[in-house]
Amino acid sequence: MSRYLVTGGAGYVGSHVVAALLGRGDAVTVIDDLSTGHRAAVLPGARLIVADLADGAAVEAAFAAARPEAVLHFAARSLVGESMRDPLGYLADNAGNGIALIRACIRHGVGRFVLSSTAALFGAPSAAPIDEDAPIAPASPYGESKWMLERALAWAGRVHGLRYAALRYFNAAGADPAGRLGEDHDPETHLIPLAIDAALGRRPPLGIFGTDYPTPDGTCIRDYVHVSDLAEAHLLALARLEQASVTYNLGSATGHSVRAVIEAVGRAAGRPVPVEAKPRRAGDPACLIAGCARIRADTGWTPRLPSLDAIVETALAWRLAHPGGYGRAKGV
Ligand code: UDP
Repeated sequence: MSRYLVTGGAGYVGSHVVAALLGRGDAVTVIDDLSTGHRAAVLPGARLIVADLADGAAVEAAFAAARPEAVLHFAARSLVGESMRDPLGYLADNAGNGIALIRACIRHGVGRFVLSSTAALFGAPSAAPIDEDAPIAPASPYGESKWMLERALAWAGRVHGLRYAALRYFNAAGADPAGRLGEDHDPETHLIPLAIDAALGRRPPLGIFGTDYPTPDGTCIRDYVHVSDLAEAHLLALARLEQASVTYNLGSATGHSVRAVIEAVGRAAGRPVPVEAKPRRAGDPACLIAGCARIRADTGWTPRLPSLDAIVETALAWRLAHPGGYGRAKGV
């Protein structure tokens, strides 16, 4: 049994990673301010400390309570569009809180750190698949803030010997196959939950953001990876840190267009998704597909649920069981 401190463990990816850690018997302390996370997303068995990462005293108390062997850092603001409106707020919060957390690790002698990073640091790449050595060119302050943290970790590694894993997610999707956890953002901006709710008649028709991209059907191509497969990759990366720091791109290595996702949701729901064509969304690259050869070679990781239909079915099952998500009130 190992002890872990997980920031943002009440959020979408963080909660699935907490479930994976608990599933193998680890002791998990979550620190989350519940600004976007949900109390109910922290499974029984984990300890939840409700606090903002900017609260230095609370972070110190969390380290003292958790005595972690490693820190997994998910807590961040993560909306690309919002970051374009509030660039300095994103840099201050994401990079500032993250750097303070890395410093706390060094102070407390915690030698391993896992960063929830993003494909957004590649901007709009010209080639696919995108491997770890593709040029870094964030097209948003959100992506920039994650790149700043990757650089901070590189220096913490070089100077202080901190081992770190930078895990760059492509499109996290789906829900815990056991039905305990799912995706619940407010406001929801992601394609699959919006398409599901449109199919179920719980939302207006889904807007397709751009139908004139240079792709076979004119809509954007993304690499959807099941959130539980992402969680598994975190466990493998943690083990890999026994040997060295690592940077991995994480996806299914397969691209699906927006229209292909809409068809998959229609198949799963048994009724078509009502749609309407909309203009392009600012900052959306045409195609993002992960090159995942490095993590596969290092750890043997490969998604267990690579099919888009399987991913969508888990997302639909959770939305059907939780029509209001985790609960409407903030902090639930
Ligand atoms: N998308 C869309 N309509 C929506 C939400 C998303 O057409 O209501 C598109 C979006 O332009 C992108 C893809 O779906 O090409 C995935 O978007 P999402 O926000 O889920 O993830 P992102 O790729 O931005 O991380």
